Amino acid sequence: MIRIFCMVKIKLGISSCLLGEKVRYDGGHKLDHFLTDTLGKYVTWVSVCPEMGSGLPVPREAMRLVGDPEKPHLISVRTGVDHTGRMMSWAKKKVAELERDELCGFVFKSRSPSSGMRGIKIYSETGMPHATGSGIFARAFMETFPLLPVEDEGRLHDPALRENFIERIFAFKRWQEFTDGGGSTGELVSFHTNHKLLIMSHSQKHYRILGKIVAGAKKVKRAELHQQYFTTLMDGLRLLATVKKNTNVLQHMAGYFRELLSKDENQELQEVNEHYHRELVPLIVPVTLIKHYVRKYDVKYLKWQYYLNPHPLELMLRNHV
Ligand code: SF4
Repeated sequence: MIRIFCMVKIKLGISSCLLGEKVRYDGGHKLDHFLTDTLGKYVTWVSVCPEMGSGLPVPREAMRLVGDPEKPHLISVRTGVDHTGRMMSWAKKKVAELERDELCGFVFKSRSPSSGMRGIKIYSETGMPHATGSGIFARAFMETFPLLPVEDEGRLHDPALRENFIERIFAFKRWQEFTDGGGSTGELVSFHTNHKLLIMSHSQKHYRILGKIVAGAKKVKRAELHQQYFTTLMDGLRLLATVKKNTNVLQHMAGYFRELLSKDENQELQEVNEHYHRELVPLIVPVTLIKHYVRKYDVKYLKWQYYLNPHPLELMLRNHV
């Protein structure tokens, strides 16, 4: 029997100031209550402050990125001191250390020249912003762990991006457990089977490619097979599940019940799916009805779909999309 939820807490990296640690240049913090109080129940945080970690004091001068957008420097705004070398050598050691932590994702502080993952202003030598990029540590981290789910706290306020990130970290954790358990071809078939509808809700294209990878599993060495499968899976899950894609999955699931449900039940299911399609109700409404029929009629294939049980109920994620 598969486990619907991961039994061990998920480990996520996080920019320290989001946990309320007073490590910012001005001695303050940026506590994010969703992260600490809600998501925090299901994860173990690994706190990382690159500026403190690389030896800078609190308080300190504010910094910004300056120069070539491909290789910007980290420069203090008032005195113009270049901290790039110190930050780069610390980041190199830190990512090696984090590799041993087996993280399932990272939540970065937005708008930071050290920790920001995207859209950070890069200034020209004359002091004008002329490009955007990633903070120095965030960039080193993402280059080392290209498949790891990453987001910043600003983007996580968007319900669709939040749902997507949380689905990915839970999928990442399940993959870790799958590979820790040996990751045989038979287990890969089960892993894939239980993720089918979840994948379909993100990308039909990736669903088809993953199906082919699994069908040809016996012809490929295990390490290569895992690499192909997991890279494709994470690429696919990164794409947002839209109302249209979710409606397709709901209709697909309805097909499993057509012969089982009474006329009234079939009609009710079609109505609820249609209401979701017209965005009159959130996804949790058809999902709850389908889960009820899955239990009532013991539909085995659907019973183990992570799409119907993607993460703990308390995160309320199917409520907002
Ligand atoms: S944004 Fe990053 S470097 Fe700045 S205080 Fe927060 S954790 Fe430290």
